[in-house]
Amino acid sequence: MTEIWRNWSGLQTASPAVAFTPVEETGIVAAVREAAARGLPLRVVGSGHSFTPLCVTGGAQLTLAGHAGLIAVEGEQATVKSGTTIRSLGPLLRQRGLGLANQGDIDAQAIAGAVGTGTHGTGKGLGNFSSMVRGLRLVTADGSVIDCDGEHEPEIFAAARCSIGAIGIFSTLTLACVPAYSLREGLTVRSLDSALSGFAEEAAGHRHAEFFWFPLSDKAVVKTLDPTDAAPSRGRRFRGVKELVLENGALWTMAQLARVLPPLTGPLARFSAVLGGGGGFVDHSERLFPSNRLVRFNEMEYAVPAEQGLDCIAEIRAWFRQTGTRVYFPVEFRYVAGDDVWLSPFSGRDSATIAVHRLAGEDFTAYFAAMEAIFANHRGRPHWGKLHTLKAAQLAALYPDWERFQAVRRRLDPKGLFLNDYLRGLFEPQA
Ligand SMILES: Cc1cc2nc3c(=O)[nH]c(=O)nc-3n(C[C@H](O)[C@H](O)[C@H](O)COP(=O)(O)OP(=O)(O)OC[C@H]3O[C@@H](n4cnc5c(N)ncnc54)[C@H](O)[C@@H]3O)c2cc1C
Repeated sequence: MTEIWRNWSGLQTASPAVAFTPVEETGIVAAVREAAARGLPLRVVGSGHSFTPLCVTGGAQLTLAGHAGLIAVEGEQATVKSGTTIRSLGPLLRQRGLGLANQGDIDAQAIAGAVGTGTHGTGKGLGNFSSMVRGLRLVTADGSVIDCDGEHEPEIFAAARCSIGAIGIFSTLTLACVPAYSLREGLTVRSLDSALSGFAEEAAGHRHAEFFWFPLSDKAVVKTLDPTDAAPSRGRRFRGVKELVLENGALWTMAQLARVLPPLTGPLARFSAVLGGGGGFVDHSERLFPSNRLVRFNEMEYAVPAEQGLDCIAEIRAWFRQTGTRVYFPVEFRYVAGDDVWLSPFSGRDSATIAVHRLAGEDFTAYFAAMEAIFANHRGRPHWGKLHTLKAAQLAALYPDWERFQAVRRRLDPKGLFLNDYLRGLFEPQA
């Protein structure tokens, strides 16, 4: 038995019978063969930042933190080992004059983990990590290694790019990049009504736009990022302090205070929304996209058709008003471009994503269930790494290419080596 494994929020734990930590592709192949020979199901872990039990196993767990680094750059495409984190990739790309077209709120994820769940940032016209993949090398359940891209094994490629470790194990990933760039951040605090009425235009006018709505104050912090030729700002420390105050230390303190003293919740939420104002900071894209998240939480996020996103927020506001539920954590709203990846939540449709959070350790079930009912009315698709309750039959109805994915999965992993109980519920109708 190995040490107990925990995900980032602490909600998921596992006690794998055996842990593999290969640093080369040959080690991945050997681990897969050994697990299969011993009859142990195998789950591959990135950085453990998913909220769902994707990586939980009592069998074999495979971690690729040691299988990291940039292998090659050709034009604007970079081939990386799958355990490379987004954070360590940033400087490696910049040294070669490249960057990623988009990133999410944090950069601790392994590239493979981000690709495997369809992780995304915000920006109309900008796709998620899965859609940035131009080619990949996959170790499958029988220990074979398959190279695939849009022309070679295109079905495997379309399935694997967002496959939560159910098709095989990425050994390397080739990513489309863009010339290195800097971004300028804009932050404004508005009433939710004002944020909602202007947001569609705002999102069209900025490369990246999102808002964080604090339901208790009815205020929203609108955040934009746009490319700039300006030099990186001085005063990084000030931004660091502000970030720490807004998103971490104070957020944690306020969340605790609000829990103990519910009447304080409204004023605290108003205070933190005001702290969010300001902006104008310039930095290299890979440094400005992520922020530190020291406060642990659990999260649900759904992607709904882009044109229904703001209506969905209005429904969530009506629910808060009707029920009087008091939630301190903000609701995050972003846009993501549609893609052609079979199980990407953005497959075939431009989308808006809406994320709701609760402090780690707090009971999220009633709040998340109410939100999930609203998302379901909009044919929402859940983020694969974030909490939801959907099973195979419901998921099949949401994805036009579901059966094609399943055919590839069954062909490459006929004995279900890469399934745990949770994935069985996602992929096997009667589980
Ligand atoms: C604080 C925080 C902020 C976040 N912000 C965002 C955000 O802004 N946008 C967003 O979309 N998501 C966000 N997420 C969710 C996160 O990006 C995803 O859950 C992502 O998958 C986590 O990456 P990871 O490396 O930790 O992967 P893990 O959680 O370890 O694994 C995720 C999946 O990838 C599979 N996998 C890992 N490595 C491989 C491999 N080599 N081959 C095949 N499959 C593999 C695993 O089996 C698993 O199914 C956030 C999560 C947290 C905790």
